[in-house]
Amino acid sequence: MVRGLSQWTKTLSFPARVSPQRPAKESKVFHVSPSASPTSPPSPINDTMDKAPIITDENFQDTEAEKAIMGSIVYCIHHKDGCKWSDELRKLKAHLNTCKHDAIPCGNKCGAMIPRVLMEDHLKYTCAQRRARCDFCAKEFTGHTLEKHTGTCGYEPLYCENKCGMKVQRRHLGQHKLGECAKRLVACRYCNKEFVFDTLGAHHAKCGRFPVACPHRCETAVLPREDLEVHLKDHCTTHLLSCTFKDAGCRFKGNRFSLDKHLEESAKMHLSLMCSLVTKQQHQITSLKSAISKLSLNYTGTLIWKITDYAAKMSEAKAKEGMELVSPPFYTSQYGYKLQASIFLNGNGTGEGSHISIYIKILPGEYDALLRWPFSHSVSFTMFDQTVIAEKACNIVESFIPDPTWKNFQRPSREPDSLGFGFPRFVSHEMVKKRHFVKDDTMFIRVKVDPSKIVAV
Ligand SMILES: [Zn+2]
Ligand SMILES: [Zn+2]
Ligand SMILES: [Zn+2]
Ligand SMILES: [Zn+2]
Ligand SMILES: [Zn+2]
Ligand SMILES: [Zn+2]
Ligand SMILES: [Zn+2]
Repeated sequence: MVRGLSQWTKTLSFPARVSPQRPAKESKVFHVSPSASPTSPPSPINDTMDKAPIITDENFQDTEAEKAIMGSIVYCIHHKDGCKWSDELRKLKAHLNTCKHDAIPCGNKCGAMIPRVLMEDHLKYTCAQRRARCDFCAKEFTGHTLEKHTGTCGYEPLYCENKCGMKVQRRHLGQHKLGECAKRLVACRYCNKEFVFDTLGAHHAKCGRFPVACPHRCETAVLPREDLEVHLKDHCTTHLLSCTFKDAGCRFKGNRFSLDKHLEESAKMHLSLMCSLVTKQQHQITSLKSAISKLSLNYTGTLIWKITDYAAKMSEAKAKEGMELVSPPFYTSQYGYKLQASIFLNGNGTGEGSHISIYIKILPGEYDALLRWPFSHSVSFTMFDQTVIAEKACNIVESFIPDPTWKNFQRPSREPDSLGFGFPRFVSHEMVKKRHFVKDDTMFIRVKVDPSKIVAV
């Protein structure tokens, strides 16, 4: 590019020997000393432009003067930028065509004026029209579009803003922050509160809504942690207490508190449960008693019958007609006849009201099929005199040998037989009173079966 002189006159500087003062007689001539040497240039005058010579076209009307000016020694206009060139003014234009500090238009036609020395750098790094590759995606751009691309390249690795320490390509950053980042916020799926992802495990260890199993393994499979205490206290079926009256039939179950309340409120119900329990137990006692009496059956053929509470039984017998006391059954031998004695304290038949009557009857026994019938053993009844002096004691004895024709001694049927044989006038009431047949309100009677058929005494 060629510049007109007027374009650069303002930036021209001259060596100091070129006097800026014009001599009076050479008022129109700008004198440049020919002796000035370009090899030892003095310091330039450049502090004030108004001291610089004013050069106008008029000045150059004079050819000689122009020659003189053009021959003056000047520095390169880029002296300040470091160009050491210094020569006649007329050579300056040619120098500028090669001066590495002079600005020329960018070879890429980006429109910028760039000093030659900086051109390489410009073309490489700053030219808007330069060709460049993105370091991250490796795509080619012009400098201008690269600047736009920088900061948006999807392949540029960036530190995650959540400070998780990860570097993720820009295009994956959204997905990372949403689904992978250890520092992303996530809601606890149980309590819905938000937590940094990597603290969620620690939160779950104490989250109140976190599902836990009942430690008693009841049918409630899982429940929120914060409900466990109430569950154990009030609802856990394995942890409930049974009512104190459970054995009586109460099915209530509850925690300690509700059990206390239940006991207070259910006294009536519990009482009726207890009553039926007592009745049930009484039946059990009866059947146990009969089982025991079966076990303690007497197989000796001799029964000692103890009649307690004599006075009460006697007055009951007097008040109630036909009241009969029966003895425990007994056997004549282990596989013998089964017998039972009975007493009418107030008499029966001919002894009624005056005597104690006593009878024996044959009960259906286990071994009847093997025995001889009719029953023919002699039977004796003895009422013991319980006087203190044994020698003075006088027992009352009655006995008989069964007549084979008597119906009472045939093999008994399975139906209980009310018929017996004995003595309606065994002992008179008078006799009972006279002697000590009753002592401590108790009477003893012996019933003896003689297996040898001999009349017993
Ligand atoms: Zn230069
Ligand atoms: Zn350029
Ligand atoms: Zn890129
Ligand atoms: Zn992250
Ligand atoms: Zn939670
Ligand atoms: Zn439970
Ligand atoms: Zn109860």
